[in-house]
Amino acid sequence: MEEWKQLLRDGVNNSQQLFERFGIDKDLGDRIAEDFEIRVNAYYLSLIEEPGDAIWKQVIPDERELLDDLSSPEDPLNEEGDSPVPNITHRYPDRVLFLVNHQCPIYCRFCTRKRKVSHPGWWNKETLQLGIDYIRRTPEIRDIIVSGGDPMMLPDHMIDWILKELRAIPHVEVIRIGSRVPCALPQRVTPEMCEIIRQYHPIYVNTHFNHPREVTPEAALACARLADAGVPIGCQTVLMDGVNDDPAVMKELVQKLLRIRVRPYYIYQADLTRGTNYFRTRVEKGLEIIKALRGWTSGLAVPHFVIDAPGGGGKIPLLPEYVVEMNDDEVVLRNYQGKIFRYPQIPPERPVGEQSGNGVAAPVAALLP
Ligand SMILES: *Cc1c(COP(=O)(O)O)cnc(C)c1O
Ligand code: SF4
Repeated sequence: MEEWKQLLRDGVNNSQQLFERFGIDKDLGDRIAEDFEIRVNAYYLSLIEEPGDAIWKQVIPDERELLDDLSSPEDPLNEEGDSPVPNITHRYPDRVLFLVNHQCPIYCRFCTRKRKVSHPGWWNKETLQLGIDYIRRTPEIRDIIVSGGDPMMLPDHMIDWILKELRAIPHVEVIRIGSRVPCALPQRVTPEMCEIIRQYHPIYVNTHFNHPREVTPEAALACARLADAGVPIGCQTVLMDGVNDDPAVMKELVQKLLRIRVRPYYIYQADLTRGTNYFRTRVEKGLEIIKALRGWTSGLAVPHFVIDAPGGGGKIPLLPEYVVEMNDDEVVLRNYQGKIFRYPQIPPERPVGEQSGNGVAAPVAALLP
């Protein structure tokens, strides 16, 4: 058996094993697993150093998952509302989210898609085909985010089939794979899988690391294999209480990611998903983290801090206040050290043609209402 399959088998996969391994009440485990399954593969399990640490919190079920009342939505981003066919969310003009699997290498207790992930009901080859058909008949789609669940948990031949179908659509320019595998089960990134992926470039991978202790030699090897196959790798991190809500931890994480050729892309403010609210932090924390990164370490290492708009509406970036004031004459700016700088503006009343120097000066009066 392949190593990654063995690691999945040898992990904690149900409440009985959770009880045997950690003494967590089996009845509680059963009730939690009814809504969202338990899975910690043996590799990720090996990263836990002690109960309650940043690795543990991400994957070991917690009774607080059951305490969230019904006013927390199951689908806080209204992904179903923007869904023309079962596995697609078409929210932005030129790109779609395409869910191709219900399984993951671990089941993260904070998952925003708990309503679907780990539940096999919605997933089959017919619904996959419906998604592919939708993309084929919708020419404005030029970028596909292939996600789930985790696409890399599919067998090689399924990954090959999905990528081949998508690449055969002329208007599809970019394919992105969203996967936690390079972090949570890096052994799955086999040379064979990389060989498949490289047939369908341009392919991007956005992976998901949340803590510097996840950046191991195994994860480095997985990312090296992908990068050597020509895949640019980004990282989408979720900001979580007690896991990574600390500028020093985040700085170590983003620096370690760059070293394994992973470019930090987003830090997400936690969504409002039912059963995950105990992970939420105040929004100021994310801004504090960005302030602690921008200027203080490589710009390449600084991700965008975003909130996915509740109810659907897309990702909204949040920035610390670098613009102190902006008026007709100048912009007053604050740099990363807090020093103030003044940048003089060109006069607003200067005609468009004169600004660009192209000689087609339009009379300003003619442009005004
Ligand atoms: C995040 C997301 C995307 C991709 O957004 P980018 O900002 O381009 O990375 C596309 N569709 C949906 C529904 C998303 O949630
Ligand atoms: S890997 Fe991603 S989709 Fe899967 S459980 Fe974790 S956060 Fe959810």
